[in-house]
Amino acid sequence: MADPLPQRRTVAVVGGGVAGLLAARRRAARGDVVTILEATESLGGRVSRIEVDGLELDAGAESFATRGGSVERLLAELGLSDAVAEPSPTPAWVVGRGVAHALPASGWMGVPTDPFAPDVVAAIGRLGSLRLAMDRWLPVRVVAPDATAAGVFRRRLGRRATARLVGPVVRGIYSKPLDALPFSVLGPDVASDLVARGGLLALAAARRAAAPAGAAVLGLEGGVATLAEALGDDARRLGVAVRTGVRVTEVRAASGVWEVETGVDAAPIRVDEVVIAVPPAAAARIAPAFAPTGASTGRAVLVTLVLDAPMLDAAPRGNGVLALPGLARAKALTHATAKWPWLAARTGGRHVVRLSYDASACAGLDEGAPAEAPGSLAGAALADASALLGVPLGPPQLRDIAVVSWPDSSPLRDVDARPAPGLTLVGSAAGLSGIAAIVAADFVLSDSQERMTA
Ligand SMILES: Cc1cc2nc3c(=O)[nH]c(=O)nc-3n(C[C@H](O)[C@H](O)[C@H](O)COP(=O)(O)OP(=O)(O)OC[C@H]3O[C@@H](n4cnc5c(N)ncnc54)[C@H](O)[C@@H]3O)c2cc1C
Repeated sequence: MADPLPQRRTVAVVGGGVAGLLAARRRAARGDVVTILEATESLGGRVSRIEVDGLELDAGAESFATRGGSVERLLAELGLSDAVAEPSPTPAWVVGRGVAHALPASGWMGVPTDPFAPDVVAAIGRLGSLRLAMDRWLPVRVVAPDATAAGVFRRRLGRRATARLVGPVVRGIYSKPLDALPFSVLGPDVASDLVARGGLLALAAARRAAAPAGAAVLGLEGGVATLAEALGDDARRLGVAVRTGVRVTEVRAASGVWEVETGVDAAPIRVDEVVIAVPPAAAARIAPAFAPTGASTGRAVLVTLVLDAPMLDAAPRGNGVLALPGLARAKALTHATAKWPWLAARTGGRHVVRLSYDASACAGLDEGAPAEAPGSLAGAALADASALLGVPLGPPQLRDIAVVSWPDSSPLRDVDARPAPGLTLVGSAAGLSGIAAIVAADFVLSDSQERMTA
């Protein structure tokens, strides 16, 4: 008698963002029976679309880092290499009260490689550059584990370079001022690298040299949401069952299997493996025994404006602005139609501007009120765009607005996750942030599986 067919492993993937889609696709490709359970009505999570003034725009992420080449490898697998789009080569600006300068080319985290480069001198002045150059001669001390980023940068680079070059870049990435950020957050090996290289300028030069040639970030024609859509299509092609509108409320171990409770199924779903691919705070709610605890990192609000504003045709602030504290509520602005030529070609002269806020900066503003109404978020966003772009903008220029609020917005590292046999945390639930980091982690997993089965 022939051997019975081996039982196929069953997997529930909780969350249908990029991380969940990647995990589902890999498991289906190796023969598992996979179901994605996604709370909202569509896949993609922070890599999804929104319609504003009839334009299909990215609702969250709009680019990916080229570091490591993982995303380009994935795009090739998905047949999307031809859609890769380069941003315009114009720099972003740093704008604050009485300050507006192009952001100098940076080696790492806003730290330039040449303190006397013309764009650096233009940004921080000759004295600022001289103080910055002192980094080369200052004695290098071991960085204390509790050192703040502000402390280390100020001591080595001076106040002006720290405030004007490093602070805006780091705040844009981590949503926190330098004073509130431990230096260690910038990477597990940064402190030792700083000592080994003999300073921050040398560290920045080394990181710059190690970075791939070309743009540090790329986009996709049609928006990076195209990537999530292609992953969803590929997952379905591989047989993954996709259930949208299904919010998971609990994941628990039950005598050799995992049980997944949803708000819609009468009985728990029983599977061999659960992959948790939701933001950390949601993971902590549904699987408190295994997920990171106390990991909520605050909300980000993204306001997208579509404007009729010919004075923006000349892209007065390049691709966008990193805001110094005090001038606007927004922490950053992207002039999307200046940054992405493919988008400008589709808007018929309209401008798309995206403003990023920490949710606390929008507290008390009325999201639904028209731009003319006092206390409206739309009015505040227009005022911010006007201040940051340096051109008059008001309700007459506004064609349409979209506001999206995202939980757990800041990158985390070293989250205290406790996976168990048959329970896997991926993407932001595992402390990863950014499409590149999430895709790279997926390749590491699949390459190691291939080696094991070779
Ligand atoms: C405004 C913004 C801009 C960004 N820009 C960039 C960028 O330009 N480049 C870049 O690389 N990265 C960017 N990022 C970060 C990047 O988008 C994320 O790191 C990445 O998309 C996270 O993917 P994920 O799959 O881990 O989580 P998510 O995309 O958050 O997906 C999680 C999914 O789980 C679902 N879910 C939540 N709770 C439940 C539940 N209980 N049951 C079922 N489903 C649930 C959610 O609906 C969601 O679909 C940005 C993030 C934000 C917020």
